[in-house]
Amino acid sequence: MQSSQDREPAPAVHDHGGGVRSLRVPIPDNPLGHTLVYVVDTDRGPVLIDTGWDDPASWDTLASGLTACGTSVTEIHGVVVTHHHPDHHGLSGRVREASGAWIAMHAADTAVVRRTRGARPERWFSYMTAKLAAAGAPEEHIAPLRAARPRALPGLSPALPDRDIAPGELLDLPGRRLRAIWTPGHTPGHVCLHLEEAHPAQLPGHGRLFSGDHLLPEITPHIGLYEDPDDTTVTDPLGDYLDSLERVGRLAPAEVLPAHQHAFPDAAARVRELLAHHEARLTDLLALLAEPLTPWQLAERMEWNRPWADIPHGSRTIAVSEAESHLRRLVKAGRAEAVPGSDPVTYTAVQ
Ligand SMILES: [Zn+2]
Ligand SMILES: [Zn+2]
Repeated sequence: MQSSQDREPAPAVHDHGGGVRSLRVPIPDNPLGHTLVYVVDTDRGPVLIDTGWDDPASWDTLASGLTACGTSVTEIHGVVVTHHHPDHHGLSGRVREASGAWIAMHAADTAVVRRTRGARPERWFSYMTAKLAAAGAPEEHIAPLRAARPRALPGLSPALPDRDIAPGELLDLPGRRLRAIWTPGHTPGHVCLHLEEAHPAQLPGHGRLFSGDHLLPEITPHIGLYEDPDDTTVTDPLGDYLDSLERVGRLAPAEVLPAHQHAFPDAAARVRELLAHHEARLTDLLALLAEPLTPWQLAERMEWNRPWADIPHGSRTIAVSEAESHLRRLVKAGRAEAVPGSDPVTYTAVQ
């Protein structure tokens, strides 16, 4: 494909066959590059699976991509959102305004949207500073958050969905069989969408799976904690994620249509790779937990895509939540435990 600096490149539309196309909607300043927004034809007009980041250039790409598909943003019948993250749900409100489309999301992620809309940034910053302190983060990491003048954060006013996506049920899409598969882990209400129709190129397997961020061909999604300032439930997002992986593996779709990167066959093989990856990582962490460590100390010692010293502030915060989700899993599985009386709490492997 040719690219040009002084000219808008042609909208990247890919026809997956069987009334399914994808649009590459850019995510500004993000190494992921773009969200794949899927356009699914129905008897009532096109339905979008995810919408992309709320940014003028992303909106233009979405609108011109739909034109290239022979339709228009005003024709959209509905929006099915895999999860609440802004690279998926960001433009849903604008699509609804332009078209009158409904927006559907799993109730657990709608709850996050409702909370985000209601929360003041100050509340979020105070929650995060307390949480990082409890995880053993040094003052030099917490101080910038405490000093931050809370301003509007990106994605702070996401659109409130109109419909719940009910797990296990077919969505109300005239002429199509699209079933919601609840796959919590990356977010509490993440869903994959199983198109229960023969593969247009007769690939072996059962239909096609829109996998959102749950199952991606070359990267693993971030699994942190379900950060909810108002809920003290000790959740286990990594445990949820591993269960959700097995669930989609059992569907044995002929092809996976993910929200980033590219489509791929053999979901079961990718699921096995990811399960093995996480088991290896948990085993590595147990070795580190031969000595008692706070979540922060564990994050410092874990393997990342670059040395800890090179990881910027915001990514360190994300890394700590990932360390915590692994600790939760180990504790729930009885493989690690909190050291009684430690403050901040340290964890150690169960001998
Ligand atoms: Zn996501
Ligand atoms: Zn994403």
